[in-house]
Amino acid sequence: MPSAHTVVMVALLPITIKNRNIPQNRLDDQRQTNREMLNEVLRRVLQPLTFKQNPNAKSGYYNVLCADGNFRRCKPVLAACLADCPEYSDLHHLERHVCFWCECAKNELGDYVPSDKQHPRRDHNLYRTLSDANTKAADAELSARHVHRGFNVFRHIPCIVSNLPTPDLLHTMQIGMLDHLQKWIFHFMKTHERVDKYNAIWLSVPAYHDLTPKNTSYEEVSQWNGKEMKEMSRYLLGVVTQSLRGGSPAQRPIFNRAIECTRALLQTYMYARYKSHHDATLSYMEDALHRFHTFKDVFLLGRVSKKAKAKANALRTELVKKRKVDEESNAETWTPSKKRREMNAWRDFISHEIDVSKELDADFNFPKIHLMSHWVEQICHYRALQQYSAERHEQAHKTNLKDGWNTSNHNLNYLPQVITFQRRIVCFKI
Ligand SMILES: [Zn+2]
Repeated sequence: MPSAHTVVMVALLPITIKNRNIPQNRLDDQRQTNREMLNEVLRRVLQPLTFKQNPNAKSGYYNVLCADGNFRRCKPVLAACLADCPEYSDLHHLERHVCFWCECAKNELGDYVPSDKQHPRRDHNLYRTLSDANTKAADAELSARHVHRGFNVFRHIPCIVSNLPTPDLLHTMQIGMLDHLQKWIFHFMKTHERVDKYNAIWLSVPAYHDLTPKNTSYEEVSQWNGKEMKEMSRYLLGVVTQSLRGGSPAQRPIFNRAIECTRALLQTYMYARYKSHHDATLSYMEDALHRFHTFKDVFLLGRVSKKAKAKANALRTELVKKRKVDEESNAETWTPSKKRREMNAWRDFISHEIDVSKELDADFNFPKIHLMSHWVEQICHYRALQQYSAERHEQAHKTNLKDGWNTSNHNLNYLPQVITFQRRIVCFKI
């Protein structure tokens, strides 16, 4: 397991403004400019790896000044990079919401992919050729593979570009899939009128060992961090199982599916955190992932987008109008009991139609659910996933940057102070 000292800051990359409320075409233009700027910055940072400043180093080996002041004959190769999904997309010139390891179609991201039937891997040499060709056919080929045209720095330095992204438990699971799972479960509890029970059981989780006592219910917490998610993964299944006890015979199969889905995803996460693996643990992880995909439809209504909700609301308004017309036209013939029966039938019909409309528009096609299908392959190649988790890097970000900023005088020339702090304090600690 690497320590935070394995991370050394070499450059601060520019952070662009999040333009959320501007038209889509301007947003696309701005994103294009941002990608180009990021590539230019990375080209300068990674210039020593391109060998251009060492024309004699055709073999790739040249004398490199090391941290202890000695020169060593080295062949520096970029082996990996660590980022969250949108950053990977920008770094590799890919469209947003796609897999950066394989060419899985956007509308198939939510499907289960067995580890021996993966989609074709991304071929960045082909993308470079197509991008350089600059023809309409090449552009069409690139957009079919969800790739942007243009210069990409990683295609010009010694590395295997499709191997650069590393599996990241922090972003994919802790603040990715587990966060989604919590939201789905809460939506499920709301739908089945179990929120009060869920909150009460949540608050009653005892402070056992290193579990912190709960002072707030799930819905009162506005944002969860990775550490809290890791802790929550230990008691979530118990809370869900207890909250869904009882219920009518019609509800039981649905509740059991929700419990099984929660169990399967948590098991996948627990297996992924193992520090060593063998064939049996990998097959257990694969089996848990398969079970999660089998049962996940029970949470489909928790995946309804804002657009689908708006469409369902429009449908509701239209059906309510029809109900009123029906009520007014039969006002004289219906007896009070007949009217009550008809209104109940209308209510059930509207609720059913809304659910069907939402289910038709909801799906599980988002990148993080798909990334889990690559883990068995990644573990076989690079061993336990824990060592790549961004937790260390987030911790290093605090010591390298935030502590430096806190000790600076916060003036305009704070950057040299941050860098000096990092060199003096952090290097002494190493
Ligand atoms: Zn993939």
